[in-house]
Amino acid sequence: MKIDILTIFPKVALAPLSESIVGRAVAEGKVDLGVHDLRDWAVDKHRRVDDEPYGGGPGMVMKPEPFFAAVRELRGGGDAKVVLMTPQGRRFEQAMARGYSAAGGHLIILCGHYEGVDHRVVEALVDDEVSIGDYVLTNGAVAAAVFVDALVRLLPGALGDERSSEEESFAEGEALIEAPCYTRPPEFEGMVVPEVLLSGHHGRIREWRHERSVERTRANRPDLLGGQRG
Ligand code: SAM
Repeated sequence: MKIDILTIFPKVALAPLSESIVGRAVAEGKVDLGVHDLRDWAVDKHRRVDDEPYGGGPGMVMKPEPFFAAVRELRGGGDAKVVLMTPQGRRFEQAMARGYSAAGGHLIILCGHYEGVDHRVVEALVDDEVSIGDYVLTNGAVAAAVFVDALVRLLPGALGDERSSEEESFAEGEALIEAPCYTRPPEFEGMVVPEVLLSGHHGRIREWRHERSVERTRANRPDLLGGQRG
């Protein structure tokens, strides 16, 4: 899989993707990740990528020319899917991460800043608009890092143990969030690990985890069980 991120804050996008599981996947070549400074495709000598909004209003709008030039160059005549990070997009969820991860191929991710991006970019270049949640961030580099992290960890071999992604919250066919987990010591400041987890009895452990999953889903995410979101 090849992923290019276009942003005016390359360091912001790159930092979280250089560590841990995603950093290792990149180092091992499981994903070919490029993080680019959009200003490298600016058309004037001041490397300007924004301008005042037509129609008035606060803030600045990101100009179309750098996005068009950058996408053309990064695509290089090949096939690439272009994703814009925007709070106006489809809400990002684990099922979408699974879809993008399984599809592989070449992704070019556009990050906005200020008021947003000239809409001609959306109309002519973008295949999918993705929001990481119903809130507004200052820039798309943070959102792109979240998006890329979620789908790279699902690439074959990225996680040490494939069961991690099969048995977690929002796993395929799973409407529940994961059960609580514990590690050593068995007792800490008077708080003990549930006895069943120390029993070595796989059937009882499975049952306990399922019950806790249902309990926690009902408390924290009733919407997943068809109820109202808390
Ligand atoms: N004026 C825009 C609006 O009201 O929809 C918000 C622009 S926001 C301040 C600047 C940039 O941050 C956006 O262009 C987008 O790239 C990114 N961004 C902010 N919130 C986001 C979210 N929830 N999901 C994805 N990207 C987001």
